Amino acid sequence: MRRPPTLKTIEIFASPQGEGLRQGEPTIFVRLAGCNLRCGFCDTKTAWRGGREWSVEAIVAEVERLRDEYPTTWVCLTGGEPLAQNLRPLVKRLHGEGFMVQIETNGTFPPDPDADWHSVSPKPPDFVSHPGFRKKAREVKLVVCRPLRLDDVRTVRAAFPATTPVILQPESNAQWSIKKAVDLLEDASRAGLEGVRLSVQLHKIFGFR
Ligand code: SF4
Repeated sequence: MRRPPTLKTIEIFASPQGEGLRQGEPTIFVRLAGCNLRCGFCDTKTAWRGGREWSVEAIVAEVERLRDEYPTTWVCLTGGEPLAQNLRPLVKRLHGEGFMVQIETNGTFPPDPDADWHSVSPKPPDFVSHPGFRKKAREVKLVVCRPLRLDDVRTVRAAFPATTPVILQPESNAQWSIKKAVDLLEDASRAGLEGVRLSVQLHKIFGFR
């Protein structure tokens, strides 16, 4: 008999989305374990390893339980790197229960064919993402980390259609990074790069998860 699908999971919780174009919208987060990268600025290092095997059915049951007290149609699969695991059975089940599914990814694995929203965040040193995201990304987030340069913004801008926003997100809202983000925005504008904008991590300002 085939084993039911499971996913290594760190936590499931409800909170406003703190980042990107969906910022401020009520969301249920499923944080999955494991990541193929090791970014120095990572703010979810606890998700690099560990986690517990949850069946897809158990994850959906917990998401539905949370929806009863925190009504929303959105579930965000985050990590770690969620696409390092096979998300298809979970995405299908969540759709079956009437949810919309967002995936926050570093872009190194192929996109999920059924997800409603991919937030792609290419990482240093090369800021490269899988070509499948050219069509699938709804937004591109660049953490304004020390290594990020205008040439990287240019490379990322060229990898996506001009209608897909490229969001400069200061690293943990740090002052040096905010200044760098403002300067980069100005430089990008002067260089004729369209659709580049600034953002913040709202949850770190307001103190929610
Ligand atoms: S890709 Fe994301 S989760 Fe993985 S190490 Fe980098 S910042 Fe952390």
